[in-house]
Amino acid sequence: MSYFKQWPGLIKAYEKWLPITNKTPVITLQEGGTPLLELKYLNELIGKNVKVFAKYDGLNPTGSFKDRGMTMAISKAKENGCEAVICASTGNTSAAAAAYAKKGGMKSFVLIPDGYVAQGKLAQALVYGAEVLAIKGNFDRALKIVQQLADEFPITLVNSVNPYRLEGQKTAAFEIIDSLGKAPDFVCIPMGNAGNITAYWMGFNEYFNAGISKSLPKMMGFQAEGSAPLVLGKTIDNPETIATAIRIGNPVNKEKAFNVRKESGGKFTKVSDEEIIKAYKILGKEEGIFCEPASASSIAGLLKMKDEIPTNSIIVCVLTGNGLKDPDCAIKNNDALFKAGIEPDIEIVAKSMGF
Ligand SMILES: *Cc1c(COP(=O)(O)O)cnc(C)c1O
Repeated sequence: MSYFKQWPGLIKAYEKWLPITNKTPVITLQEGGTPLLELKYLNELIGKNVKVFAKYDGLNPTGSFKDRGMTMAISKAKENGCEAVICASTGNTSAAAAAYAKKGGMKSFVLIPDGYVAQGKLAQALVYGAEVLAIKGNFDRALKIVQQLADEFPITLVNSVNPYRLEGQKTAAFEIIDSLGKAPDFVCIPMGNAGNITAYWMGFNEYFNAGISKSLPKMMGFQAEGSAPLVLGKTIDNPETIATAIRIGNPVNKEKAFNVRKESGGKFTKVSDEEIIKAYKILGKEEGIFCEPASASSIAGLLKMKDEIPTNSIIVCVLTGNGLKDPDCAIKNNDALFKAGIEPDIEIVAKSMGF
């Protein structure tokens, strides 16, 4: 018996839940269908018989959950005859936009904050053939500019203000319920522009309203301490954090995010860069999962709130992006033994290994 069956991509997998018609050209790289991994070390660390899972969305085709939204946004742009797309990005949106635009035969322009995009992400946008414009300003400034450009020129905006992005991203909630057989009690998720937390909440509600799940999770949103507009309830002019994917001071989906917190009975909390790195290392060393720093904020947040977690809870932490995106962070932040300059001699190598 063969276990290999192709996952068709999330539009095909969830077509009846998505705003598509038989005229929509499906532009896909077979995104979605990502693993939901139980995190045994974290189960033990938190205790109380909780079960912690990671929704490992760094395993999407371009290495982040942005692919979920982009397959929808680009398919709809194609359907509407669009020839070029634009986005502002802290990196992952640009990688996804560039890849899906090319797959759909379109041109892509990406505006990034000069010097604040992780190497892997920049490499991707370049390889996928985007026109990359690095501006001397932060993400929030870049987003204002692309919004205006999209108003004035024949070009489609694919940031998370594009409603199709959230439609695609909500499928991660469907996958979680389809895997667990029910909704989790808590979802821990990093927040930048807060499109993803909004999309998950849409997905959980759609399954709940259709009677597929019998409960709704509490949505726990996390931001980095130096970039926490949603936790503090005010715009941050100069956001700073090692987690560049969530280095956003004025989230476009802030009203929606506040609504998610209220409706779900959830909570928003900030975590320090130190806490993020601690969680990042735990994932790598104890669970065999390499995620990017922004993603580790969901685990950092869970560890921070562990005393508030009721016994027997089922918790899903969203790991939004792949660790390979940010090799500089990995090389600077690990506890590995790295011995360089060893002579190529068996005895010397064995000795270095402690034999
Ligand atoms: C985009 C992104 C986020 C933040 O998602 P929002 O929808 O902007 O809140 C978090 N982590 C990673 C890796 C991302 O690429």
